[in-house]
This record gives sequence, structure tokens and C-alpha cells, in this order.
Amino acid sequence: MENKSAWEKYKAKELKAVFSLSEDYRKFISDCKTERECVSESVKLAKEAGFKDLADIIKAGKKLKAGDKVYANNMDKNLMLFVIGKKPLSEGMSLLGAHIDSPRIDLKQNPLWEDSLYTTHYAMMDTHYYGGIKKYQWVTLPLAIHGVVAKKDGSLVNINIGDKPGDPVVSVTDLLVHLSADQLDKKGAKVVEGEKLDILVGTMPLKGEEKKAVAANIIKILKDEYNMEEEDFLSAELELVPAGEARDYGLDRSMVMGYGQDDRVCAYTSLLAILEAKAPEKTLGCILVDKEEVGSIGATGMKSRFFENTVAEIMNAMGKYSELDLRRALAASKLLSSDVSAAVDPNYGTVNELKNSAFLGRGIVFNKYTGSRGKYGCNDANPEYMAELRAIMEKGGVSFQTSELGKVDQGGGGTIAYIMARYGMNVIDSGVPVLNMHAPWEITCKADIYEAYKGYKAFLENA
Ligand code: MN
Ligand code: MN
Repeated sequence: MENKSAWEKYKAKELKAVFSLSEDYRKFISDCKTERECVSESVKLAKEAGFKDLADIIKAGKKLKAGDKVYANNMDKNLMLFVIGKKPLSEGMSLLGAHIDSPRIDLKQNPLWEDSLYTTHYAMMDTHYYGGIKKYQWVTLPLAIHGVVAKKDGSLVNINIGDKPGDPVVSVTDLLVHLSADQLDKKGAKVVEGEKLDILVGTMPLKGEEKKAVAANIIKILKDEYNMEEEDFLSAELELVPAGEARDYGLDRSMVMGYGQDDRVCAYTSLLAILEAKAPEKTLGCILVDKEEVGSIGATGMKSRFFENTVAEIMNAMGKYSELDLRRALAASKLLSSDVSAAVDPNYGTVNELKNSAFLGRGIVFNKYTGSRGKYGCNDANPEYMAELRAIMEKGGVSFQTSELGKVDQGGGGTIAYIMARYGMNVIDSGVPVLNMHAPWEITCKADIYEAYKGYKAFLENA
């Protein structure tokens, strides 16, 4: 079995739709580089599509009926959207789940320092990377600072430095090749070490200041521009992300290069699919979750009870809540755990077993299992469920492929699939193939983005 390129099937009209969807997506990932930015933009799009805040409905004691559209915002970092169906919730839901956090470099809680050891007196900021990165890929690139500073008075200051026209950028510096003899003898994992990911932020001393005058000047700038004290770093969430827009990629413009496509490419296409859903039989849901890259822990990660609490609230607002009905609703549900797949790279084709690998341009990918060392830790989807999905994809005219994460014993990984499978629901991993996964600039193919969107729509309409 070999899958055909999805590009071959498009006639002029659909080809136009492929490129126009990718352009909207390109703008979305250019604007949304943190989980908070993804939630705030998704809430905006949801409101435009007629979704109401579930918290307001609960507060007003209102009821939910078939056709109603609601969203639940968890701490501005995790969002769930539902379209209420005609059938009782206990008959199960059709769910899409994707994550909106991406690998990056975070500022530490007490980040600012000025170098005196090497007498440079440069102002630096200390960082701690988030998620699995090849650290050497993150040096010498323009980085932007995105995030929030929470002040003691309860107010929140939004920070976005490096992505507006005319903004300065920062970066992690790296050694010049001329003096790198010792560095280049090191193993890849040690060429750039975690504590050497500090960013350079200034060289100009504050006039009249004697001690740490360059750092003092940075503090003054933060005070003047953001009304922020140095102590406010203690309650800040500041993320260093690659600066600049996502771009069309390839001489044929068939691809997108951008930051955070793992997993915003699945999040965006899943979001569109639920926003366009109409009057379903079964209740439909879309879960955009945080913290996947660090093990899905935390109140905004998939292991949080927020999801089942939200379903309980929806059941209650639909008329009658019971613990047993809630358990039944969760177990009878079906989920596409949507996360990116590793696309075969011709420069490194030896890490794959090519009959069971994902390729750019061949459509949405189903990973029956992930895991490592003998499928360890994987959610091996049921063949009955896979058969149902084959029929749904065929009916929707969706190009799909199947894949494993590399050849046997080459490595491995996981997603949110196993967490949702604990409810007893059918779960499978699906998503878009990516090159350069977890690098600052990842590559996806526009045909796959479009086929994922079509696949998620077909799933919501037919599962
Ligand atoms: Mn992912
Ligand atoms: Mn990832």
C-alpha cells in the first residue's frame, strides 16, 4: 500500500481553498505564539461564530438546548468548545483534542543579572527551556518576549516585545566558529547547555548609577514602558519565542514555515471544524489544552479535572446531572487526539520504516499507536475504531495516511491520547506531518493542513 499525494486530486476551486485556508492559518500562528494568545484569539473567533461563555450560562442559571454553542475558558490557557446535540449526553460525544503550548525558552523567576566575572557588564536574563528542544537550534535567532506580568494589585500587564514593527529583539548568543575547537568536540546534547541559554538584553549603563548600572537601565526601561518593578518578575509568565511571522515555504509555496506548528496546526484546524459545526445529533467538543510538552500536568493540562468538570456542568445545564450519566457520557465518547506526526526527511530517511511513515502532502495522519521500546506507554487504538474512521474519511473524500513514530526502537514519544482513554472512550492519534519538529521554525505542507481540516469536519459530522 502506498498513499498518493493529495495535491494530485485538487481541481482549481479546491486548490484555491487549500491556499486560502493556509493563509488564514499562517496569520493565526504568526499572532498566536503562546497558549494565552491562542486562547484569546480562539475565544474571539468563537464569539463571532455564536459561542457563549459557559460560565455566564451557569451564573445566570440558564439551560442549554440542542444547537447551543458554548466555550469554557480555563485560566486563559486551556479552552474547550462544545456544540450541544439532540441526543442525551450519556450517548457520548465526538471530540477533537489538540495542544496549544509549544517548546520555547521561559524567563526564570529572578532573571536579570549583569556580568562582572568576565567584566563585560552586559545585562543578561536567565532562562529555563520548556519542552524537548535541541538546544543548539535555539541560539543566534531573533527572539521575541511574549507573556504577562501579574502585579500585586491584581492587574495583568501584557508583554509583546519583538513582533511589532520597529520592536527590538533579543537572542541567545553563540561562540564564533574561530574559537569553537573545544565546543565542537562535545556531543550534540552538550554543545549548548541548558544554563547557557541566557539572553543578552543590554549594554548601556544608567547615568549616575555606580553598581550594576546596565541592569539598572533595563529596570528603568521596564518601569517607564510597562510600569513594572524588578520584583514583578516573581509573578510573570514570560516566554521567548522566535520573532517574526510564519512564511510561505518552498519555491512552489506549497508549505508553511512557522513557529509552534506542533501543535497549533491541529489546534487551528480542529477549532475551525467546531466553529463551523451545525445542529448535530451528538454533542461535539473541541479541547485546546496546555502543558502537553511537559507531561500534561498542571491545572491547564489534560490531566486536570477541568475537562470532566466542564462536561458535568454541561450535563447539568442540559437538564439533569447524574454521576452515572457523566461516566457513561465519557465512556461512550470518541476522540481524535490531534497532534503532529514526524514527516520523513530525505536527509534523514534512515530513522523511518517507510511503509509505516508519514509524508508531506499525503494528507491527515493516523497513528494507531506511539510509545517506545515495544509500544511501551502507547494508546493502541482499537481496529474497530480505525475501521470506522476509514469509512468516515472515505465518505468525506479526505486523503489520509497511517504512520508510526520512526522505525522500531529508534526513539518514541507520546500525546494526550492515553489520558483521555482512561475514561474508556475510543481514542486515536491523528494530525499533520511536520518537518523540523520542536525546532524554532517548523515546516508543514498546505495540502495536509487542508486535509486535516476536512478530516476533523468529517469526523464531527459522522462519528
Ligand atoms: Mn505535539
Ligand atoms: Mn511536541
